Amino acid sequence: MTEIFTGNFTQQDPIPDEGIAAAMEVLRSGRLHRYNLVGDEPGEVALLEREFAAYTGATYALAVASGGYAMATALRALGVAPGDRVLTNAFTLAPVPGSIASVGAVPVFVGVTEALTIDLDDLAAKAGRAKVLMLSHMRGHLADMDRLMEICDAAGVSVIEDCAHTMGAAWRDIPSGRWGRVGCYSTQTYKHMNSGEGGLLVTDDDEVMARAILLSGSYMLYTRHGTVPPDAVFDEIKYDTPNVSGRMDHLRAAILRPQLRRLDAQCEAWNARYRVVEDGLRATPGLTLVERAAQESYVGSSIQFLLLDWEGDGISEVLRRCLARGVELKWFGASEPAGFTSRYDSWRYAPSEPMPASDRILRGVVDMRLPLTFSLDDCAQIARIIRAEVSAVFQARG
Ligand SMILES: *Cc1c(COP(=O)(O)O)cnc(C)c1O
Repeated sequence: MTEIFTGNFTQQDPIPDEGIAAAMEVLRSGRLHRYNLVGDEPGEVALLEREFAAYTGATYALAVASGGYAMATALRALGVAPGDRVLTNAFTLAPVPGSIASVGAVPVFVGVTEALTIDLDDLAAKAGRAKVLMLSHMRGHLADMDRLMEICDAAGVSVIEDCAHTMGAAWRDIPSGRWGRVGCYSTQTYKHMNSGEGGLLVTDDDEVMARAILLSGSYMLYTRHGTVPPDAVFDEIKYDTPNVSGRMDHLRAAILRPQLRRLDAQCEAWNARYRVVEDGLRATPGLTLVERAAQESYVGSSIQFLLLDWEGDGISEVLRRCLARGVELKWFGASEPAGFTSRYDSWRYAPSEPMPASDRILRGVVDMRLPLTFSLDDCAQIARIIRAEVSAVFQARG
């Protein structure tokens, strides 16, 4: 009897009842716009900003329309101008180089290691080429942040962290998003909190936050934000910072606030699932697990493994056979991207020098989502299926 998995890899948890109730209240009020406030009520968006700043330990947080918007805003707030070069990961998701392109800047791609983190030797070699690194903690893998910051500080490179997959994660107990000058998060449906679309940006820097608030479309209502830099900082910049509308609304903030309260518990639940799949895949012939550093507190909302140096059609066969048994894997190495792009050579608007060592890794990366709607038994079954199919194809092909 071959077992077949029947779960849905794109089915998220429902919004908590508390969030639904808060959303209904916002709908009944009719006041969805973040500056549509009565008297001195803070409103859901400003409250979310205060609570997210407290959660991350940042001085300031700004809620915006998407994660990609938060990243582009961070670049603008740091003064990145058309034609400037910005370092970024060769392995990430399309909105990351897209945020750089959206401000007219030019991505300079940095390679990836077998740990699926940015290659710090390659970063050290390229650090002199740009003033900003848009660092993507792709698929939740954190590089050695102590060494990364050493390299960037020595080269005078400001770091923006893309924490779309690391909300709730940390390196040496310092939250991701708090190592660089700016941390950016997404609250899009497939991330760690779900408002359909949405994003957050955190920083301790007065001027960066004042610029980000004005850029996000605050008009002169910036004092109504949840965390506000001193007036004098706005006075310096308020007439020459453009409004690039990308606000969050009360409806989304209302459903996010209860999710933030349970975020740590959700992260634990993801990690329990991750560990079951990881244990089930351990010592599968031909399959390389991505080992995590002791300093890394990750959130296992997805899992990756490598089929290193496999022929492409062997990997395709594994994917086909797993899918036939209900297990949906993504292969980042396919020669034609399907569904989305994650490799530097797919973004042809931003040409790069070839990176053969990274290409070898990217050719072998297989990825799977772990939605919280899967039980631990589901996860064990999924691992058994992958293990059986990888072993079968590996043995058949010698
Ligand atoms: C989803 C994602 C983003 C962008 O978030 P959006 O809210 O969809 O704009 C950025 N980086 C990575 C790695 C992502 O997966």
